[in-house]
Amino acid sequence: MCSGIPISLASFGYMTLEGKVAMVTGASSGIGASTVRKLRQAGVRVAGGARRVDRIEADVALALDVTDEASAAAFVEQGIAELGGLDILFNNAGLALGRYPFSESTEEDERRVLHTNLDGVMRVTRLCLPHIRDAGHILFMGSIAGRQAYENGASYIAAKFGLRGFVYALREDLLGRPIRVTTVDAGLVETEFSVVRFGDDVDKAKAVYEGVDPITPDEVADCIMFALTRPLHVNVDEIVIKALQQSSGARIVRRTDRRSAS
Ligand code: NAP
Repeated sequence: MCSGIPISLASFGYMTLEGKVAMVTGASSGIGASTVRKLRQAGVRVAGGARRVDRIEADVALALDVTDEASAAAFVEQGIAELGGLDILFNNAGLALGRYPFSESTEEDERRVLHTNLDGVMRVTRLCLPHIRDAGHILFMGSIAGRQAYENGASYIAAKFGLRGFVYALREDLLGRPIRVTTVDAGLVETEFSVVRFGDDVDKAKAVYEGVDPITPDEVADCIMFALTRPLHVNVDEIVIKALQQSSGARIVRRTDRRSAS
């Protein structure tokens, strides 16, 4: 539990993660799965959550639907009981649905995208917060979609902008407590993200990365590990990571056609 008692943060050197415990949402694939692997390699015991629990390779694998209040509560309760506390929370679960103009949007898509990327993150953070120990760290998976709009992605863009606002507010509320807060805003990362976005249309998903060398999930996980291992008095607020060939969600210079939208 966080005491809120001022401690001399500068007396801590680079953080070693050995012996710490972490919870990771969206641990069944992509960035979440890579981060779980790297955390465990660094000596962290990890509880991972996702709907496809059979795909989670963590010390504790738990079913989690972040959009469901009871599921999120059970995930946090069981995870903390199994781990014996909490030092690190990585709010990573997220998704986008489709690429279409907002005039074609539906209630159902908006609900799923906002509830997964925003409400779900706030819920899991709120439930974990009372258990996070001094020297703890809360990390978020944002997106460049939360920094600059591009066409045909309104719900996802709104959710990730909202997430960035939430993280700024949380940092204000936690100021003075020995808990660090970090967001990683990524551009194109080759994961199952686009397969989900395009409703299992693998060809459409593949086209997103054509002619580009995208970021890999391991490279995003390296950003998480960087933020975690800084000395305790150093809070890495935000990391923005994009493929060299990408300047925004809308502008990608591809090897074949030089310039096109993602
Ligand atoms: P991914 O391979 O599709 O992984 C998404 C993860 O989120 C999966 O483990 C999935 O697990 C989980 N998830 C989705 N809905 C969930 C729910 N309701 N409850 C619990 N878990 C849920 O994609 P990824 O690229 O690694 O995405 C991870 C994060 O990075 C997301 O927040 C995404 O917005 C962000 N991001 C991705 C990119 C990119 O280009 N790939 C760029 C910027 C930001 P289950 O389906 O098993 O539940």
